[in-house]
Amino acid sequence: MVYVESKGSSFDEGALNAITAARKLSDSVTAVIAGSEADVAAKALAKIEGVDKVVIAKDSAYDHALPETTASLLKALQEKENVSHIFAAHSAAGKNVMPRLAALLDSQQISDIIAIEGEDTFVRPVYAGNAIATVKTSDPIKVITVRTSSFPAAASGSSAAASEEQAPAVDAQALSKWVKEDVAKSDRPDLSSAKRVVSGGRAVKSAEGFQIIYELADKLGAAVGASRAAVDAGYCDNSLQVGQTGRIVAPDLYIAIGISGAIQHLAGMKDSKVIVAINKDADAPIFQIADYGLVGDLFTVLPELKEKL
Ligand code: FAD
Repeated sequence: MVYVESKGSSFDEGALNAITAARKLSDSVTAVIAGSEADVAAKALAKIEGVDKVVIAKDSAYDHALPETTASLLKALQEKENVSHIFAAHSAAGKNVMPRLAALLDSQQISDIIAIEGEDTFVRPVYAGNAIATVKTSDPIKVITVRTSSFPAAASGSSAAASEEQAPAVDAQALSKWVKEDVAKSDRPDLSSAKRVVSGGRAVKSAEGFQIIYELADKLGAAVGASRAAVDAGYCDNSLQVGQTGRIVAPDLYIAIGISGAIQHLAGMKDSKVIVAINKDADAPIFQIADYGLVGDLFTVLPELKEKL
């Protein structure tokens, strides 16, 4: 079973990677979607390859993925469907809902897996990706979050649409209430799923200086990322932070500009397919993992690069 976070009338795309992970253990996957427009979102979900059945909980109580209500729903469905594995993306919602579900099921949560070795054995990074742990569980019900960049997204367009079923009503206590969210709006691609990412670091020096990163990103149709130093200095919004305490990305192309390559930054981008580093210090650690390196002052190099592009 895969918990799919609803986003109004659509769903969070991280679920597609969680579905691929679930399919490593079973050909038939049940997807669960909950929220006031879950029935609309379910239509697209039913066409995802590998999804056999979509369970729909159309109820505004499940909007915004509040963990108390959502975990109670998933527990009821686990009991009804008698499933052995419950997956979700390792997103803010997944990290919020799944540990609570695990506690309700008296299981130990298995977080942020990057590979599956068997039905009880999973691989996950620890120490900001500096070591890889293989963990084996003896719990009968496995509650798992999936690092989305480690599993390809399940494709849409399966010829036979999955069956749809209404979830049973669940008497979940509303212990918390959603108040509001402030989401940074952007026309650029979403950082977590973009094919290209251009990131700026402390060397960009100011919010005005960061403009040059946006301009290069726009030339390349890329998402914008940043190091924590750039975020902490207020050069850009903290939703752009890449790394251990930011987003984990694995695009086809990652360009790190004026970023030294601290392990906490690498933890968020080292699985990118092609890494380009621009830094004026030839000994900067980022060059150790870069496929292409350009030693130079970003304020000279970027205008030139932009013009050539
Ligand atoms: P710096 O390390 O200061 O590097 C700036 C680089 O720019 C240098 O290499 C310099 O040579 C180069 N440079 C300077 N001027 C120019 C120029 N004109 N042209 C070209 N190059 C130039 N960091 C993250 O990024 N993400 C995280 O999620 C994160 N989580 C953390 C969690 C913890 C618990 C801790 C302790 C730290 C975390 N950090 C994280 C911080 C991390 O350790 C580094 O401090 C941070 O990544 C450094 O950012 P930076 O590379 O932009 O800055």
